[in-house]
Amino acid sequence: MTVETTSIDTLVVGAGQAGVAMSEHLSRHGVPHLVLERARIAERWRTARWDSLVANGPAWHDRFPNMAFAETAPDGFAPKEEVADYFVAYAKKFDAPIRTGIEVKRVVRNNGRPGFTVETSDGVMEARRVVVATGPFQKPVIPSIAPQDAALLQIHSADYRNPQQLPEGGVLVVGAGSSGVQIADELQRAGKRVFLSVGAHDRPPRAYRGRDFCWWLGVLGEWDAEVMKPGREHVTIAVSGARGGQTVDFRRLAHQGITLVGLTKSFEGNVAHFDADLAENIARGDENYLSLLDAADAYVARNGLDLPEEPDARLLPPDPECVTHPLLKLDLAQAGVTSIIWATGFATDFGWLQVDTFDGNGKPRHQRGVSKEPGVYFLGLPWLSRRGSAFIWGVWHDARHIADHIVMQRKYQTYYDGPDSQAKKPQPEQQVRATA
Ligand SMILES: Cc1cc2nc3c(=O)[nH]c(=O)nc-3n(C[C@H](O)[C@H](O)[C@H](O)COP(=O)(O)OP(=O)(O)OC[C@H]3O[C@@H](n4cnc5c(N)ncnc54)[C@H](O)[C@@H]3O)c2cc1C
Repeated sequence: MTVETTSIDTLVVGAGQAGVAMSEHLSRHGVPHLVLERARIAERWRTARWDSLVANGPAWHDRFPNMAFAETAPDGFAPKEEVADYFVAYAKKFDAPIRTGIEVKRVVRNNGRPGFTVETSDGVMEARRVVVATGPFQKPVIPSIAPQDAALLQIHSADYRNPQQLPEGGVLVVGAGSSGVQIADELQRAGKRVFLSVGAHDRPPRAYRGRDFCWWLGVLGEWDAEVMKPGREHVTIAVSGARGGQTVDFRRLAHQGITLVGLTKSFEGNVAHFDADLAENIARGDENYLSLLDAADAYVARNGLDLPEEPDARLLPPDPECVTHPLLKLDLAQAGVTSIIWATGFATDFGWLQVDTFDGNGKPRHQRGVSKEPGVYFLGLPWLSRRGSAFIWGVWHDARHIADHIVMQRKYQTYYDGPDSQAKKPQPEQQVRATA
């Protein structure tokens, strides 16, 4: 029996923003390719985020260069469904060859011939190159300290949707990055008693002197930072576009009614233990906040810009009681806490990618997305080439670099194949149109 195998030049796995950006650049260079997406285009924006989420950056910034958002004004923050719709419309704009509802199950390097064998939920195919665009945030991580208490509802922030989803009673939100603070704020406003466990964080001002922090990070060259500063690996960033966009201010959250606690250390039965680091974490967050104001002021002075002064931005509210006298333990039952939301981040999952480009910790080894395994590329990972890499606008620029690399490799291939290489091509390449 002969089994016919589809052959493709470049296979892109995943059709989130990274896969769509990759497809645009490959299309522009005329590189035959196919994008396989196991669910729908931008699925994670639709179903792996809470209902009220809006983009953390303004619409003029958190988008691809060639198309504006349809509904949200440039200075507004697009709701998550509009973000997903944006990528569907974007893919349609250049007729991206995306096939949805197909999962890539396994990729292995071929032996004795170039390329890779790709097993999918829809059969087997061959690909000369594989671009991994499966996301920076793939597998929700709940730390092993989570209590084994069946009476408590425990969910990851990726599974949180809205306050109605939770049982009656208070909530402990663990993690105060952008997800944790927004979820805690929403729950408190919905009338719940909320405890928010705050670790090390950066908290840039939402805006300063009339410009959004995305603009400041851009002009100050911070989005372009190539490597994370040493020791900052566990420092999260707390920003929010919710309710028109406001600076995340932990003291304000406390004055509003949220009880702040330090890093969650352990659980003993129903009792949560917290580090005594809350005041220090808040103070470090302030330092980060004030350092951006300083850098912005220096930039304004150096360039003689006409931006309104904003001295009030330096006034910080007084420390609330929960910061000056922090809780070091909390009996969840006594406090009426019935749910824990773990806003504790994500890990990657490359189990399906059986190629030789991972270090001892399972982290991909690559240079600006070009992996150690020739023909395998990564796109959309945090710090792939710089700070902006996992964000909407950053991934588009990284995709351009990877497309350039693929074009170069195809030239080497053509040289090897010789001038009549087209005639020698063994199998037709598949082109399939977008199916959102
Ligand atoms: C809560 C939250 C808010 C965020 N807000 C912003 C923001 O405001 N602005 C911003 O710039 N960034 C934001 N980000 C960061 C980033 O933009 C998003 O995480 C974005 O979804 C990443 O896009 P991506 O295409 O790289 O990955 P994803 O959106 O995760 O897309 C990967 C796709 O690959 C598919 N896939 C995975 N494995 C396979 C497989 N084996 N076979 C086939 N398909 C597969 C998935 O179904 C998915 O659709 C946010 C992140 C989070 C978690």
